[in-house]
Amino acid sequence: MDYFDSISEKDSVPEALNAKYLYLPGMEPDDIPSHFMEDSIQLRWQDELGNNVTTLEELQEYVDLTAEEKEKLQEVIDIHPMSISRYYLSLIDPKDPNDPIRKMAVPSVNELDVSGFYDTSGEKDNTKLPGLQHKYKNTVLLLSANVCSMYCRHCFRKRMVGLTNDEVMGRFDEAYEYIGAHPEVNNVLISGGDSLILPTKVIGHLLEKLTRLPHLDYIRFGTRMVLAYPDRILKDDELLEVFQAYSKKDRRIYLSTQFNHPNEITEQSTEAVNRIIESGVIVNNQTVLLKGVNDTPEILADLQKNLVRIGVNPYYVFQCRPVKRVKSHFQVPLAEGSRIVDEARGMLDGLSKRFRYAMSHERGKIEILGIMGDEMFFKHQQAKDPEDASRFFKRKLDESAGWLDELQECQPE
Ligand code: SF4
Repeated sequence: MDYFDSISEKDSVPEALNAKYLYLPGMEPDDIPSHFMEDSIQLRWQDELGNNVTTLEELQEYVDLTAEEKEKLQEVIDIHPMSISRYYLSLIDPKDPNDPIRKMAVPSVNELDVSGFYDTSGEKDNTKLPGLQHKYKNTVLLLSANVCSMYCRHCFRKRMVGLTNDEVMGRFDEAYEYIGAHPEVNNVLISGGDSLILPTKVIGHLLEKLTRLPHLDYIRFGTRMVLAYPDRILKDDELLEVFQAYSKKDRRIYLSTQFNHPNEITEQSTEAVNRIIESGVIVNNQTVLLKGVNDTPEILADLQKNLVRIGVNPYYVFQCRPVKRVKSHFQVPLAEGSRIVDEARGMLDGLSKRFRYAMSHERGKIEILGIMGDEMFFKHQQAKDPEDASRFFKRKLDESAGWLDELQECQPE
């Protein structure tokens, strides 16, 4: 029997975050009388996620919606569910309709625009087993869950989060065998959904098995929990013990976060980062450049600077992918993005501007180097085809293009 099959219901990943788990309505964790705890009724981090906002009626407690808006938004969330942790909602300024946190969490009628496509980086073609992708020689990506502590409206895996399980790893043993049989793989990225939605027991099991493989140099977890639901880290000492046990001085665990706006750096998320660092894990951040969220040099620079302040390494600023129901709403054109990033870099010190501005394209990870005259310059950082490795190339500048495929080849001189 595979390990995932043996997990009891109590430990399992919640199937949908609108499912109610043990929750004491109206009570904050601190309000719970101690005798409840003694009776072994414990408020676990999963239970609080069962209280996420998932309906428009609940959302109206936080945000004003007209009847017409409500009708349209229902259409949106019937296709891509809404789920927002109460913590993340608390970061929204209810008086500001353009609040950046609101934009990432609250559905918009703009999601009815279906330009773009769902699988923008060819994940289907790179799938070797359900939930296992192998695109770059050295890296295996495991999709470990289709659930998150919130469903970001800009998510590039919108096609699966909160929806189908088909793409999620079901049998870890098969994935483990695959990785074991590929000695060229030196790192595994456990993502989702959100990898930290997995019960701690499962995370411990994954690490225990993966660290047995001598050819793995490091293991990474992709998560937005740190900023979307820091209680996952603040309330689970066992998770930190697991990290501490497996993040060794000669073989580290890395956590990839996705802070997109300085307002996500709060006392709670700072403490969550601190606890992770203290457990010996290295924290890197991948920001997505998002229209109306962080598309000014000032905000982008402020974010990177403050990440360094709390010990998070700026790793990438990603061009928003042309995902259906995301593209028209969130994507900043490449030329504008390049200028924003250049200007932001001008405001930053060396540590804070270590990130690369890049696109996760079907062909690989492509760095957007900049603009000169009427041309844009790019370089492959990771290539699916080894012949493209480190290849430098250019395209004709087009102010409206948001993705490589929308740019024309330059004419030979
Ligand atoms: S947490 Fe990550 S995977 Fe989940 S919805 Fe947000 S961006 Fe997508």
